[in-house]
Amino acid sequence: MSREAKQDENKAATHGFRALPQVQRLLEMPDAEPLIRAFSRPALTAALRATLDHIRATLREAAAEIPAPEALLERAGAVLRAGQRPVLRRAINATGIVLHTNLGRAPLAPEAVEAAAEAARGYSNLEFDLAAGARGSRTQGIEPLLRQLTGAEAGLAVNNNAAAVLLALSGLAAGGEVIVSRGELVEIGGGFRIPDVIRQGGARLVEVGSTNRTRLADYRAAITAETRVLLKVHRSNFRILGFSAETGVGELAGLAREHGLLVMEDLGSGTLADLRPLGHAHEPTVPECLAAGADLVAFSGDKLLGGPQAGVLVGRRAAIDPLRRHPLLRAVRLDKMTLAALEATLRLHRDAPQRLPVLRMLGQTEAELRARADRLATLLEGLAETKVVASEGHAGGGALPGEGVASQAVSLAVPGLPAEELARRLRLHQPAVIGRIAGGRVLLDMLAVSEDELPEIAEAVRQAREPA
Ligand SMILES: *Cc1c(COP(=O)(O)O)cnc(C)c1O
Repeated sequence: MSREAKQDENKAATHGFRALPQVQRLLEMPDAEPLIRAFSRPALTAALRATLDHIRATLREAAAEIPAPEALLERAGAVLRAGQRPVLRRAINATGIVLHTNLGRAPLAPEAVEAAAEAARGYSNLEFDLAAGARGSRTQGIEPLLRQLTGAEAGLAVNNNAAAVLLALSGLAAGGEVIVSRGELVEIGGGFRIPDVIRQGGARLVEVGSTNRTRLADYRAAITAETRVLLKVHRSNFRILGFSAETGVGELAGLAREHGLLVMEDLGSGTLADLRPLGHAHEPTVPECLAAGADLVAFSGDKLLGGPQAGVLVGRRAAIDPLRRHPLLRAVRLDKMTLAALEATLRLHRDAPQRLPVLRMLGQTEAELRARADRLATLLEGLAETKVVASEGHAGGGALPGEGVASQAVSLAVPGLPAEELARRLRLHQPAVIGRIAGGRVLLDMLAVSEDELPEIAEAVRQAREPA
């Protein structure tokens, strides 16, 4: 036996390792019966083994008490019940980031949720032309709306914006060159790097300008017989300040026309609505970008558009049509639920944008947010020590980079419970409550929290004080 193993054994003996009950004995206890009935004997056996293993491991690290057999069965039961709950579950977003990629980005409008459920429940004319009684186009519902909302000649939608950019470059630039400014060779979250996507699309990247300044002349000098696309990429997650210059889509469009090239912009968040009336900085809109002369604009469905995960391409017919015939389209096509939700979302943009949760959240006044924070603080009376504080939220999802959104938060502490532990317990609650830690306290930002979630948060704090 090695020296380590011997030490382990000695420690185990001191901590009463051997006194852990046998699985067989636990299975014969009366408390085991309901668990066997609910989950089966093999399932309970496995859960008990896992529970005992866990206890063995903790005993090795610290001198802890061995739980009573009833408590061991109770723990195994909790493990089995947890296994029955869906892993993907609802979360309350108290991070202050409206479009949080890790939390699923945009919450859908009720109309979009209903449309997706309706599409899921039964059959639909997904790819069927009802008037002709023949095969139809999958995007028949969204194309007219995209044209109407953006002023584009044509539109298409795929799985996400990364797929939209890949499809566009594969279909329009494969075998040729794509010119991009060095200031726009961005990486967005999840390892999506523009140079990699260009390579994957079968095109060659030609970098022009410098990190902070790229002029029209730089693009002009780089054009060869191989050039296909002048690509602009929205700086979604950073800003370049100080001595800087970029060439706008309008200027690029003029240059492209002279040489018979295409100008494409990856707008990332791609808002249809002007955010200035909501009190925010200007985020370039899709219609503006097209009006300035872009032949093709790509943007996400679940960022500022406020819809389901999707990637939208709008622009000139000559740029979109070749993509409809590209083999990659089949690999990145949208499913029926997403299409239904996307169509409903676009309808709302046309008819009632105020019903879109993302735009509503970004349009809240500080007074509204303050009132919500006050109500939560009231609900938490007697459960936690609270302070209502000003907080800085963000649009997230690559929208309004570098711009804070004035918000309000409840800063809370439970005496005797470290902030990290309180935050962890809130995360593990159902629904999960996700805040952040600031100054040794848990901060719950109200920007992306709705009114009817407040009692749920209070319940989560109540349970965090005395976990089962
Ligand atoms: C977010 C973003 C993407 C990727 O969009 P997804 O819909 O997440 O695939 C691509 N480009 C830019 C500039 C972005 O901001």
